[in-house]
Amino acid sequence: MQQLQDRIRAVENRIVAACERSGRKRSDISVVAVTKYVPLKRAEQILDLGYYHLGENRWPDAETKIRTIGSKAKWHYIGHLQSRKVKEVVRFFDTIHSLDRLTLAREIQKRIPEQSTPFPCFIQVNVSGEKTKHGLHPDELIPFCKQVAAMDRIHVLGLMTMAPHEPNPEHTRKVFRKLRQLKEELNQAEVFDHEVKELSMGMSNDFEIAIEEGATWLRLGTVLVGKD
Ligand SMILES: *Cc1c(COP(=O)(O)O)cnc(C)c1O
Repeated sequence: MQQLQDRIRAVENRIVAACERSGRKRSDISVVAVTKYVPLKRAEQILDLGYYHLGENRWPDAETKIRTIGSKAKWHYIGHLQSRKVKEVVRFFDTIHSLDRLTLAREIQKRIPEQSTPFPCFIQVNVSGEKTKHGLHPDELIPFCKQVAAMDRIHVLGLMTMAPHEPNPEHTRKVFRKLRQLKEELNQAEVFDHEVKELSMGMSNDFEIAIEEGATWLRLGTVLVGKD
């Protein structure tokens, strides 16, 4: 627990410093504590220490944690999502960060009951173009969004990307900057009838650069929660 508290303090200091460098407020940034590497007990501790948004990247691996902790946390699905898992994922999670194709959007649209509120999603963009990464090509974003805009069960909060794992995180800056530009283009094109405000970007290796480039959601695993 002490070790966890020390890690949190160190990360929070770095977040605040990055905010100060870029003229932003700490309160404009949310943290998803990624608990995929750690057991239930650690997820409960991180919740007790004030992190309300928890992230997992696999179903059904996350099931025990979600069933135990339940709605005391908000659950973020951050990994690649197979269409056949959507039914369970939309039932157990609060937000999806990895909407990256039309078949998946159609499946979400189909699985959300008409009387419930539209499901909050981030659209994943493969800015870096790495073959190993999921996400839309930047050129596909606006046409894709036009289709999603017609799906009334989906609420697009923003864009998400994963930067390449660079030894020097400065190299990832252009990836984050590009995602922010794409968000601006999307809003200028008025594809949705609401403003798309959120940018889910920045992980353990590169979150300070992401903050400087406008991240509103960081997804922090190893650096914050640890890795067992
Ligand atoms: C695992 C994972 C993270 C957290 O990774 P760390 O580098 O440990 O912070 C963030 N986002 C996604 C999509 C992940 O799969």
